[in-house]
Amino acid sequence: MPYYALLEPTGEESYDLFLLYKACKYKSFFYGTFYFPRRRELRPVFRIPRVDIRDDIFERVPASEVEDAYKMLCVKCGRCCVMDSGAFAFKDEIFRIMDKLGIPMDFPSREVRVHRVGRVLIYDLAIEEGGRCYFYTPEGCLIERQASWRLKPMICLIHHCSVFAERRGKLYIKVSVRREGGKFVPVYREVSREEFDRVAEGVRRDVYRLYMRRLKGREPSPS
Ligand code: SF4
Ligand code: SF4
Repeated sequence: MPYYALLEPTGEESYDLFLLYKACKYKSFFYGTFYFPRRRELRPVFRIPRVDIRDDIFERVPASEVEDAYKMLCVKCGRCCVMDSGAFAFKDEIFRIMDKLGIPMDFPSREVRVHRVGRVLIYDLAIEEGGRCYFYTPEGCLIERQASWRLKPMICLIHHCSVFAERRGKLYIKVSVRREGGKFVPVYREVSREEFDRVAEGVRRDVYRLYMRRLKGREPSPS
């Protein structure tokens, strides 16, 4: 099945939301987010039968390029969910989540303009203290735990911290970032499975500590 990369966002909100909005219907074809070294780009990749593509939001990418790219791995540390998550969902997405999880629909929404679509409601999930997502739990994303990763908002599926990666069966960790051709380029170092697991565990522990500190900070001090 051919590979398709979601077009690059431009930084213009209505166009970037258009890409996300349209990508929602291809969730089941999502293959992963990849860093393409030659392009110096991080792009969500889908494997979609050609007949199923009805939107001009993708560009076809040769298999050889995908094989040469770094696939982002999420070690589920929760860092991008626990503070300043900025998480949000489109109406269809949040309705499906609520329906599946049996949670009453009670998220603040705002109307946004989506290129070629019009006015659309998006629901803010970052409603807990410090921008923590409503669905964050120290054990992982509640949506994923109680339903499926496919039910998560599109933004959560494609967003990656780009720290952990794999390429051609090998594991990598981002060790620095350098500036090249006006872009920030990640520098990856190959690591063993043991080192990868150790670093991932350390990150998970740090995030959990941060979460607990914030929770404790909220508790009234004993009088
Ligand atoms: S910070 Fe990276 S590893 Fe942690 S949850 Fe987010 S994407 Fe996954
Ligand atoms: S919906 Fe899940 S993955 Fe997305 S920010 Fe919330 S906890 Fe994280």
